[in-house]
Amino acid sequence: MAVVSTPGVLLRAYPFRDTSQVLRFYTRDLGLLSVLAKGRRRLEAKGAAGSSPFAEGVLVLSFRRGRELQTLRDFALERARFGLGSHPLRLSGASVLGELALHQGEGEANPLFFRGLSEGLDALETVALDRVVPEVLARLWSLVRLLGYRPVLDRCVRCGRPPAMGETVRFDVAEGGISCHSCSGSAQGPRLGPVAREQLGALVEGVAPTALLGGRAHLRLAGEFVAFHLGGGLPLRSLGVLRGLLPEDHP
Ligand SMILES: [Zn+2]
Repeated sequence: MAVVSTPGVLLRAYPFRDTSQVLRFYTRDLGLLSVLAKGRRRLEAKGAAGSSPFAEGVLVLSFRRGRELQTLRDFALERARFGLGSHPLRLSGASVLGELALHQGEGEANPLFFRGLSEGLDALETVALDRVVPEVLARLWSLVRLLGYRPVLDRCVRCGRPPAMGETVRFDVAEGGISCHSCSGSAQGPRLGPVAREQLGALVEGVAPTALLGGRAHLRLAGEFVAFHLGGGLPLRSLGVLRGLLPEDHP
């Protein structure tokens, strides 16, 4: 048993027995972790923002590799991120990023993913409400890329030909990229016109286009990609929640 310390973001909290909690953190140095916090009241009284979702701070743990539940000794809160609770759009956007982190294997550290998650949550706390969707998409695709999955957008995944100017292609989720007009005869997957393809390219690089068109369709496409390549077929439920919050006429 070692005492270790790492920054971490709180993703989930469950009550455990009378006064304790099981907390799931995505940590910088140890990846996804489940920890037991004994004496919930005492933890909250310390200003640890007990179960406030997406709170970030430094955890001190009694750690044993391979153990399912580590023991939390202390948590020094650095960012409470109460602003994420100020609007359902912000909260569901943050939940999209949190849910992707929860899909990761326990104990697999990815410090760049941790930083991307942390910066994404910070951005969603303050971004203008009409910019939440492009921001979520840019942050989500960045995290997907940090996990090693970059969709192919500059050439057809079947024949290798770059799309012609103005060509409408299909996004082949299973193949992980675009399929050109000639190859996509029998292919499934959403159509991507030149603008949609360019905007998707920006999102994958972590850039939120100033006037994103088809936000709903982009959320659906990102969801299908993540479910197929990273979620074992399971969609990120919070992407559906976020889509459901958008007005019918959302661009
Ligand atoms: Zn082709």
